[in-house]
Parts: sequence; structure tokens; C-alpha cells
Amino acid sequence: MNKNILVVGAGLGGISTALRLAKKGYKVKIIEKNDKAGGRLNQIKKDGFTFDVGPSFFSMSYEFEEFAKDCNIKLPFEYIELKTLYSVNFIDNPKTFYVKKYIKDFSEQFNEYEDDFEQKFTNYLNQCGDAFNDTIDIVIKQNFDSVIKYFIKLTQVKPKHLPKLYTSFWKQVKKHFSSKEAQQIVSLVAFFLGRTPFDTSAIYSLLSYTEFKHDGYFNVKGGMYQIVEGIVNELIKENVEIIYNTEIVDFIAENDKITTLVDNNGKNWTSDIFLINADAAAFRGKVLKNKKYSVNKLDKMNWTMGYLTFYIGLKCKLPQVNHHNYFLGSNYEDYANNVMKNPDSLQKPYYYVNVVSKYNDDCAPEGCESLFFVCPVPNLLYKKNWDDKDLIVDSIIDDFSERIGKDIKPEIVSKTILTPVDWEKQFNLHRGAGLGLSHKIMQIGALRPQNFDKKYKNTFYVGASTIPGAGLPMAIISSKLAFERIENYTRK
Ligand SMILES: Cc1cc2nc3c(=O)[nH]c(=O)nc-3n(C[C@H](O)[C@H](O)[C@H](O)COP(=O)(O)OP(=O)(O)OC[C@H]3O[C@@H](n4cnc5c(N)ncnc54)[C@H](O)[C@@H]3O)c2cc1C
Repeated sequence: MNKNILVVGAGLGGISTALRLAKKGYKVKIIEKNDKAGGRLNQIKKDGFTFDVGPSFFSMSYEFEEFAKDCNIKLPFEYIELKTLYSVNFIDNPKTFYVKKYIKDFSEQFNEYEDDFEQKFTNYLNQCGDAFNDTIDIVIKQNFDSVIKYFIKLTQVKPKHLPKLYTSFWKQVKKHFSSKEAQQIVSLVAFFLGRTPFDTSAIYSLLSYTEFKHDGYFNVKGGMYQIVEGIVNELIKENVEIIYNTEIVDFIAENDKITTLVDNNGKNWTSDIFLINADAAAFRGKVLKNKKYSVNKLDKMNWTMGYLTFYIGLKCKLPQVNHHNYFLGSNYEDYANNVMKNPDSLQKPYYYVNVVSKYNDDCAPEGCESLFFVCPVPNLLYKKNWDDKDLIVDSIIDDFSERIGKDIKPEIVSKTILTPVDWEKQFNLHRGAGLGLSHKIMQIGALRPQNFDKKYKNTFYVGASTIPGAGLPMAIISSKLAFERIENYTRK
């Protein structure tokens, strides 16, 4: 069997699988619709400032280490453990809470809010740890050939975790903590999965374990894009060609195999094997014309929220702001229940601010600061028109200025805004859903779009909307699972 592989998409899933394959002797080419690699893990360089576009920290660092070991390379970027994971600010409380990895330091901050916080938190984390350890190898780091095999595998998960499948993250957290401060801070991590604690299953409380106990969170020295630059340099050493500004829009198949992908200029790309890093559901529908994934059917699937992100260069320093910060209002439950489907909830949005220049001097001119704001918003299924983006951004900037005690408006020298419309257009994200398909119970494991194509035997998938799901470590796990599929296929 020849080992020519064409990878569609140079996101983290695409480039990390490409490196695994190239190291194994496959002849790999990558086609990317944008003018640089990284996908959502991207970078904006503008007006002398450098901004991370999407991810600003990651968990499960050992997945990256294992990836480097599998590829027989030294990890091509440096990461730094965060002792303070992030800060949380409530609108009706002047106190800033610091979410610390060291549990004693974290717990002390709840002295006046929640009795016995440390003990309660330890109990909570023990349960989360059980859920993590009992599912990671059985459900998350697995290829499933069929739904039946998946359900058989699920029987190995201890029955005590089953009730967590049917209750929400929020209810699980409420069982453990009584103060609004503890409930809201502990449940914030559910937003990292692209939905809210109210519509995310309690099984994902395992994320609290990854946050605090298992491994923690990490920043990348020089900014997150170093991950992409490092992997792309390794690909260059392996003679992997990346063709930019080229979008795959059509295909030609013979019997049960794709023979050719067709780009937006009508050029044909032939290969023995195809690996798709574009969204695994949307690509099947829009490019491969698979009726199971028609636009109508795609719209009925459960998607994550959209993101309104903006990137601000300031001509001053902001010593009063930390590296990773959350700013919450006073109506958490109401807000979270409305943020996806009710655009009016954006009148007083909740948001996250990252100051990448805080520990990376190169990311801003001297005496300046690079700020990256992320605001979870309805995706394009629920809010199509974003003409009001400037109004929303201004309201966030005003709120932020008030809360940090400094009007930043006169200090702004660079501003870039991305709405769900831009996220959809730039990265082909269906309806601008920032993290792709949600992790609803009916959309995980073998119930998620699989990493092999049922109709075309030489076609495989990697990335956030196939298994195991969204997030950088998941993209790395996804690359391992896709690589295993391709190895099995070529061995036949
Ligand atoms: C605002 C935001 C913040 C986030 N923060 C974090 C975080 O802090 N930590 C974390 O771990 N994760 C975070 N994530 C999630 C993380 O970014 C993604 O899960 C991950 O980057 C997805 O990688 P991927 O390879 O699956 O897909 P992508 O990055 O989307 O890559 C797919 C690539 O395919 C290309 N493509 C698509 N269609 C075609 C086509 N037809 N032809 C050619 N090319 C095509 C796209 O241009 C893209 O480059 C965040 C995401 C967002 C949006």
C-alpha cells in the first residue's frame, strides 16, 4: 500500500497527526484554507502587538510530552505551570478571588463565604478524580469501531458514575457547596467546554480534577502560537509541504474510496489516503454531500456557543490586572440559562480577559499591553446579525474600565474584533460555534462523528468535532487515535 496522505486543515489536530505520520514514513501534504497554520490556535500580529487568537492556556501537559515521545522529538515549545490558574471578579463584590492550584491557598479565600470549604472541596475533587480515572482510558482515549462496542466498553465504567450522566454540572456542584461564590467559581470550568454548567453533564466535573489536582494549567513561553511554530518547524524537517490559501470544496470518489479532492480554484488533489482536520460533521455534509450531515441535519445537532473575541493594544501598562481573569455579573444562573439562545443577555455580558504581555514582553511594545477578551455569545443559529458588535464591545470595555478603576478607552491604539460570523468564515466552523459540536452525552464516544468515514474507506478525521472532543490536549489525543486508524488501514 502506498502511503501518500493529504491532510485537509492545518489546525493542531492536522499538524500533529501529520507529524506522527511523516515520522512513520508516510508522504504527507497539508492543504490549509488560511494563510497560516494553527486553525483556532492562531495568532494576530498587528500595530506592534501580538495576540493569541483562541486558546490561552492548556491542561494535560503530559499529552504533549507523550506526543513528542511518539514522534521522537524534544517538545518544540516551553510551557510554564500556572500557580494562579485565573482570577474571578464578581460585579457586586470588590474582592478578587484567585483560583490557586495549591488547595490551601485557594480555600483560604472562602473563609468568610463557605464553612469548611477546604474539606468540601477535597471531597468534591476526590469524586471528580474518581470520574476522571474511571473514564479516561475507557471512554476518552479509545477508538470505537461501532456503537455496540462503545456501549459494551461503557459497561466497564463503575455504575456509581452513571447518575452523573443524567444530572447537570451545576446540580453536582450545588450538592457540595452552599455559597454562590463557591458554586459559581467551581462551576466556571464547564464554560470551557463551550456550553454552560446548566446544560453540561455532571460527568464533566472531572475537569475540576484536571484543573486542580491532576496536572493543572499551563501557559506557553512566548505565547500559545509557539506550539504551532514548533510543530510546523518539525514538519519542515520531515519535508511535509503545507499549501496555504487553498480550500477543499469538492471531491471525486470511485467505489468505496475518495480518489481526488478539489479545491476552490478547481485544482485536483489526488492521494491514497485523506485525513480531514476540517470540522468532522460539517465537512461530511458540505464537501462530501453526506445526507446524514445535510445543513438541515447539522443545524439540528447540538453545537457549542459562539465567541465574540477582541484584541486590544493599549499604550499603557495595567498592573492591576492579572494574566487570566474572569468578570462575572450578579445573575449567574439567569445569565447562563439565556446566553446561548437569547441575544438580549448581551446587554451585560460576562467575559474573560487575558493579558498575554504580562509575562511575554515581546507581545507588546515597551510600556504597552496586549489584551485579549473572550465573551461567550449565541452562535449563528440563535443570533445571525452582528452589526451591533461595536456596541457590545464598547459595553464590555466600559464595564472592564469601571471594574479595574481605569478608563482604558483613551489608551487603545489597536483593536480587532471577531464575531461568530468571522469565526465561521475563517475556520469553516458551522454556525460559528467556537468549539464545534457540544459534548452532550449523545454526541460523545462512538455517538460523535467518528474518525473514519463509513462510506469512503481511505478517509479519516481528526479534531474537535470528532473523538474525543474540544480543547488542545483533546486535539493531541485525537491525532493519536486518527494515526492508529490510518496505521490499521495501511496494514490491511
Ligand atoms: C475563543 C476560543 C478560546 C479557546 N480557548 C482554549 C483554551 O484556552 N485551551 C484549550 O485547550 N482550548 C481552547 N479552545 C479550543 C481549541 O482552540 C480547539 O479545540 C482546537 O484548537 C481545535 O483544533 P482542531 O485541529 O480540531 O481544529 P481547527 O483549529 O479548527 O483547525 C481546522 C483547520 O482546518 C482548516 N479548514 C477548514 N475547512 C477547510 C477546507 N475545506 N479546506 C482547507 N482547510 C480547511 C481551518 O482553516 C483550520 O485551520 C478555544 C477555542 C476558541 C474558539
